[in-house]
Amino acid sequence: AKPDLGNPQNTIEVLQKYKFNFQKKFGQNFLIDTHVLDKIIYSAEITKEDMVLEIGPGIGTMTQYLAEAAGKVIAVEIDKNLIPILADTLHEYENVQIINEDVLKLDIAKIVEEQNGGKPIKVVANLPYYITTPIIMGLFENHVPLQSITVMVQKEVADRMQTGPGNKDYGALSLAVQYYADPYIVANVPPNCFMPRPKVGSAVIRLTRHAEPPVEVEDEKLMFDIIRASFNQRRKTLANGLKNAGKWDLPKEVIAEAIETLGKGASVRGEALSLEEFARLSNEIYNYLH
Ligand code: SAM
Repeated sequence: AKPDLGNPQNTIEVLQKYKFNFQKKFGQNFLIDTHVLDKIIYSAEITKEDMVLEIGPGIGTMTQYLAEAAGKVIAVEIDKNLIPILADTLHEYENVQIINEDVLKLDIAKIVEEQNGGKPIKVVANLPYYITTPIIMGLFENHVPLQSITVMVQKEVADRMQTGPGNKDYGALSLAVQYYADPYIVANVPPNCFMPRPKVGSAVIRLTRHAEPPVEVEDEKLMFDIIRASFNQRRKTLANGLKNAGKWDLPKEVIAEAIETLGKGASVRGEALSLEEFARLSNEIYNYLH
């Protein structure tokens, strides 16, 4: 039987056998806790019907768990030094395909089309934290067919994804994630569950893709531009944020009127607005621009 890499002793043996050097620039913190691994697989609800995309398999710890549960696993790893290790630790699994690439440079929608007939996949990963946001937003914005994304991220980032208006962590990331998916924090994970230990706390978050967007938006890009402009100037009012953003050159009165249709006072701040309100605001501005 295969040695379970969720057991720290087995991970250490593999690292020593291959004299592996951790690369900080790739955000390498390998999981060494079987309970956390079980919890990720369980909450991602993987079945033999599923094709799973894993981003950053490392030495293949979670990949082993995924291969047991899923129909097929595609694992994308940037570090070429890990490829021979993965060939070793995963040699028993015929349903795993390793791709040695930067995940941000891959056309994942195309892979899903070719390998899963366009049927939605599940994404599961212990993410490299330095590119959490581009990875998640890339999957959503490029319309990769997917059911859910279950990922380990920095705890603070998980909080930002899950929170709503009025909370200190609320911002453009909260709104972007919640436009596409329903976020749910599955578990908090302390640094001692990793090797080497990260400096920050971590959390597993599951993002379940909405079947339909929860709000009606005339122009998604315009709405997200408006959201970013509102949060760029956190301590300013929404009206000032929209005015100073500059790129639309909106007359003061148009901004004031659009804000008024929300039933908010003129001094309202962006962080007080829900996704639904940003959608309405952006539709008002869209109507003015067209
Ligand atoms: N899945 C393993 C585990 O849980 O033990 C490793 C997780 S580690 C936090 C992140 C992994 O992502 C590393 O193996 C790292 O080399 C890989 N990685 C970093 N940047 C990447 C990129 N742009 N594309 C693909 N993989 C990347």
